[in-house]
Amino acid sequence: MKKNRARLELSKNTMKTYGYRVVDAIVDHLTTQHQKLPVAIGSREEMDSLFLEEAPEKGMEPNQVLDFVLEKVMTNSTNLSHPKAYSFVPGPSNYVSVMADALATGYNIFSGGWVASPAAAELEIITIQWLLKLFGFPKKKGGGIFTSGGSMANLTALATARRIKCGDDFSKAVIYLSDQAHSSNIKAIRVLGFKKEQIRIIPTDIELKFAVNKLKNCIAKDRLDGLHPFCLIATSGTTNTGTVDPLNELAAICKQENIWFHIDGAYGAVAYLSEKGRPLMKGMTKADSLTVDPHKWFFQPYEMGCLLVRNHKHLSHTFTEKPEYLRDIEGNPSEINFYDHGIQLTRRFRALKFYMSLKTFGLKEFRDAITYNIELAEEVESILRTSKNWEVVFPATLAVINFRYHPIKDKYSENELDAINQYISESVVSSRKALLVTTLLHGQVVLRMCLINPRTTLDDVKETLAQCNQFANEFLEQNKVAH
Ligand SMILES: *Cc1c(COP(=O)(O)O)cnc(C)c1O
Repeated sequence: MKKNRARLELSKNTMKTYGYRVVDAIVDHLTTQHQKLPVAIGSREEMDSLFLEEAPEKGMEPNQVLDFVLEKVMTNSTNLSHPKAYSFVPGPSNYVSVMADALATGYNIFSGGWVASPAAAELEIITIQWLLKLFGFPKKKGGGIFTSGGSMANLTALATARRIKCGDDFSKAVIYLSDQAHSSNIKAIRVLGFKKEQIRIIPTDIELKFAVNKLKNCIAKDRLDGLHPFCLIATSGTTNTGTVDPLNELAAICKQENIWFHIDGAYGAVAYLSEKGRPLMKGMTKADSLTVDPHKWFFQPYEMGCLLVRNHKHLSHTFTEKPEYLRDIEGNPSEINFYDHGIQLTRRFRALKFYMSLKTFGLKEFRDAITYNIELAEEVESILRTSKNWEVVFPATLAVINFRYHPIKDKYSENELDAINQYISESVVSSRKALLVTTLLHGQVVLRMCLINPRTTLDDVKETLAQCNQFANEFLEQNKVAH
């Protein structure tokens, strides 16, 4: 036998110093990030110039690789946990879960089946039960699974809905969603092989909510055409505006029409934990399935999504396959094999970070953080409302606020306003001091702040608004917009 055969190992001491250095780097990053710029900008050419090389045949000193990565990779990645990352949906994360991920990966725990890791399966069962209770789903009959994110949770939900409502033949099946539904739903529908003619995108009303009357008309017409309405996707907190669809009314329609009621709460459902958010979400507990995305507003690091279902059997009916090589690990039915409840066989141990962070901080701290975020957005709204330069385009809803530069004393056309606000966003992002991008609401270019980071302060927001004002003035001077 060869003496120094390859084992992909470091010496014990090197492993320790290397690991401590990684922890030091993470802690230094987290405790100094507010002084750093959140936005990274880099072209493909620039990144190529840093990283492009052939796979090295021969390795190098581990600390050198680590140094290079800390210096070049981490600094060239936008920091969505930064207090001034307002855009898309930030990922505030928390340190306990980061370390939990390190443990789960360090021990490389297989979270697919009971026999492989009973404790990992048990923790997923228990944390899913916590979530079922938190979101008002039946704890005994209900079920769920952790996924990589909201997109995979939605895909898992729609595959389940189709299996339960259509069986094998979905040629006449029709699915309904609003024009404010998240794009991951359309992606999931395509992945599942539905044709364009089977998708109904219902326009929202003036408040950007699912238009119930239009939906009813559409379902009735589809029935007349001999089609099979089988699934409706509502949103509990749209990504654009935080809007919650009229869940009670939609639930009633689904019940009457025997349609699967899926709610995409990837962004907003977590607000149900707060007294401030819950009243907005009446009817959420009536869903057949609910997507929650703990790597957003449940403060978990990437990746962690979650699907909850009213009836756990619906997941096992959809995803159970019994190949011969898994026959020894079937076990007893209370001992869940999560590979039978979703798409993945080999799965990382996502439940651990959720478990450890909830045990460490307690639910109350999570609830308080969520309430703080909702109130922060409301404070920002009142600041904007009482200023001469800003217009609130869509009021603070579940910690999202949409606004635009629109001074009262000057008259600008809609095109000019769009150009000013686009310029403000582009300039803020190029300054790298804040991540603040635009969205379109009713055709207008607006700035959108998503304030779900509990470490974002009102002063952070005020600084960013001052910066926005400055850029607006700069634009008006440069372009000499007539007014
Ligand atoms: C973010 C989001 C998704 C997608 O979730 P990922 O975790 O990014 O895959 C789906 N729906 C809504 C409403 C979202 O906000």
